[in-house]
Amino acid sequence: QHDQRATDRTLLDRHRAVLPTWLALYYQEPIEVVSASGRRVTDANGTVYLDFFAGILTNAIGYDIPEISDAIRRQVDTGVLHTSTLYLIRSQVELAERIAELSGIPDAKVFFTNSGTEANETALMLATQYRRSNQVLTLRNSYHGRAFATIGVTGNRGWAASSLSPVRVSHVHGGYRYRSPFRDLSDADYIAACVADLRDVLATSTAGDVACLIAEPIQGVGGFIVPPDGLFGAMKEVLDEHGILLVSDEVQTGWGRTGEHFWGIQAHGVTPDAMTFAKGLGNGMAIGGVVARAEVMDAITANSISTFGGNPVATTAARATLDYLLDHDLQANADRLGRRLLDGLRALVDRHPVVGEVRGKGLMIGIELVEPGTTTPSQAAAASLLEHTRTRGLLVGKGGMRNNVIRLAPPMTLTQEEADEGLAILTEAIAATDKELSA
Ligand code: PMP
Repeated sequence: QHDQRATDRTLLDRHRAVLPTWLALYYQEPIEVVSASGRRVTDANGTVYLDFFAGILTNAIGYDIPEISDAIRRQVDTGVLHTSTLYLIRSQVELAERIAELSGIPDAKVFFTNSGTEANETALMLATQYRRSNQVLTLRNSYHGRAFATIGVTGNRGWAASSLSPVRVSHVHGGYRYRSPFRDLSDADYIAACVADLRDVLATSTAGDVACLIAEPIQGVGGFIVPPDGLFGAMKEVLDEHGILLVSDEVQTGWGRTGEHFWGIQAHGVTPDAMTFAKGLGNGMAIGGVVARAEVMDAITANSISTFGGNPVATTAARATLDYLLDHDLQANADRLGRRLLDGLRALVDRHPVVGEVRGKGLMIGIELVEPGTTTPSQAAAASLLEHTRTRGLLVGKGGMRNNVIRLAPPMTLTQEEADEGLAILTEAIAATDKELSA
């Protein structure tokens, strides 16, 4: 059966026939993962890949972790996959208590959803209700989801399927220094320029009563854009003058992935009014949510429910994931191996003109590809590097407004040997891409 599937190419044809064309697939020959363990996945041909992207996509801490599978299995064995959030769910309450405490937000409350999109939709609804305003600030190049309000606040137009929006959005500068008019400024001057831009947008492009700024501490889809530490702290001082809320979208940056901090926003010395999370928390199970100051969370008075949000299986998986990552101090691991990868990759910038910039924090590292010797974004180089890593047995991500960034986000259980293995593959693959593009 395995062999038959391996030679059967019709799954791709069937996918194309019945799924939307805008549902992107990676690789000239897309991969079907049929099994996985640790940081490695096996495809339908039996090829094994080291996975340097799953950590952000879904599996924050890797595949097939017995502590998590066993916890899920025990819940399944009770016969209750779910009944309804209309009843008390112990694992949901316990997970909410955990996240409220970890959030650092005083007097925090938590609402669970099934995705990051829903989490951000909820956060935007809370902020706009709390402030009685539908004006929202977002960063250029941001990504916050695929429903109406979240598409509205998505600054990366390549991922914004609609130009319609229930919220009125103004964009501010916020982190993509490499592709901004402020490229050559120091951290302090760059922060000052962003703050000045924020003040200018507030004064000239809004009606004054803005609800919130929603921001990713490190832009994910946008190409792992790392703003200088302290930027959001400086911006929050301006927000506070107007009572504008700060919503930190931690869908990619939460749970210690950035190494130095448990939440991405903590690098900026501020506590936001709300944070959203999703993706890796369930280590493969669908879960997302919002943690916010109680006053903000309870700003709506109408009833609301999420049928599957916070169900017993998802919250059990999330609790087990949190236990595992805290017990094993995976944040420290992300910090250590992130630095190792960053150092190794930064050494390639001067050697390979196709690499414009390497940036990152913890296990969130972006490689910005350019036309050799210029700063012009090169989509072709990113496409080439994606294939060259794949043929050498490494899965990585692609991103960036101009599709010219390769993204690394391995599961946080990554070992030093695996980090070095991935680095060796990347070194070879970048050389191959450089040669191809410079030819
Ligand atoms: N926010 C951020 C920062 C994201 O990266 C994503 C997903 N790429 C989302 C929100 C949306 O999450 P989901 O795909 O689970 O709806």
